[in-house]
Amino acid sequence: MDNTASSIPSKMKAWVYSEHGKPVDVLKLDSNYDVPQLKEDQVLIKVVAAALNPVDFKRMLGMFVHSDSPLPSVPGYDVAGVVLKVGSQVRTLKEGDEVYGNINEKGLDRPKRSGTLAEYTVAEENLLALKPKNLGFIEAAAIPLAIGTAYEGLQKTALSPGKSILVLGGAGGVGTMVIQLAKHVFGASKVAATSSSAKLELLKSLGADLAIDYTKDNFEDLPEKFDVIYDAIGQSERAVKAIKEGGKVVTIEPVGELAEPAFRFILTSSGAMLETLNAFLENGKVKPVIDPRGTFAFSQTPQAFSYLETGRVTGKLVIHPI
Ligand code: NDP
Repeated sequence: MDNTASSIPSKMKAWVYSEHGKPVDVLKLDSNYDVPQLKEDQVLIKVVAAALNPVDFKRMLGMFVHSDSPLPSVPGYDVAGVVLKVGSQVRTLKEGDEVYGNINEKGLDRPKRSGTLAEYTVAEENLLALKPKNLGFIEAAAIPLAIGTAYEGLQKTALSPGKSILVLGGAGGVGTMVIQLAKHVFGASKVAATSSSAKLELLKSLGADLAIDYTKDNFEDLPEKFDVIYDAIGQSERAVKAIKEGGKVVTIEPVGELAEPAFRFILTSSGAMLETLNAFLENGKVKPVIDPRGTFAFSQTPQAFSYLETGRVTGKLVIHPI
């Protein structure tokens, strides 16, 4: 791979959709797509690996048309790759830096039309961080959107040492990060999490003190109540029954009913936040979780989306090599 600015072509391979629908129906591989233009505060990245997120197929289905960008669009938020060129106002990053990040500052507010499921992408310098030294590109790509959502949500609940938390959807991309951050970064005294039977051991290995099998138990019927519930499923009506007096429920499911006092938010991408968390990634306290069959070749991107749409993925799916 030649990663020098002089080797930047004007056209690239990219997965593109020009109409809304299911990924297998609307996602097309274009071998002649324009390499995105660089703005002054942005860097051009040779994408090495890109991770999928539910927001990618939800946008493709047309769920967020009121705030989305016009079509055609290249999906993809998460990237790990190499900086090929920097804009004139870029201060810290330089050519050759190995970076990772979520390229869309506001999750649902006019995301970039040229996303990360392509050979090249652009992102503002302040959305990126240097790749953790101990992680490869595949592992790094699996982190940004999920860890950002986990961290921002936990901050909004004011989780602090000594408090207890229940994570609904502990085995997903976001849930696996919430468990680890709650335990190893926010210092929760007790971390409980839900999943189906086969994933309970994973929850424990990530730091859950209590793994609840949702196929056997209703968490809201258990005697124990929690200071904080992080709802990554969209079950706020049940969640509010399982909090202590004055407890907090944050839900990240972007649509559907919200039961009082639960609140929802849409994540904001931040390179500074990734820099802060790099310490925990580099000392191994927080690890990316990639589904056992979670690495797909670029040509297999629609198949990867089909798997993600089942809602059964463990951790993340990563597209590599690109
Ligand atoms: P994933 O696709 O990674 O979640 C899949 C996981 O969910 C599976 O491991 C599955 O485990 C688990 N799961 C499914 N149903 C249940 C259930 N009833 N109880 C417990 N676990 C369950 O999704 P993400 O983690 O990436 O995202 C979760 C949701 O949050 C999505 O709706 C996404 O769009 C949204 N989101 C919102 C953001 C925001 O800013 N508001 C940001 C990021 C995500 P099992 O097989 O054991 O059921």
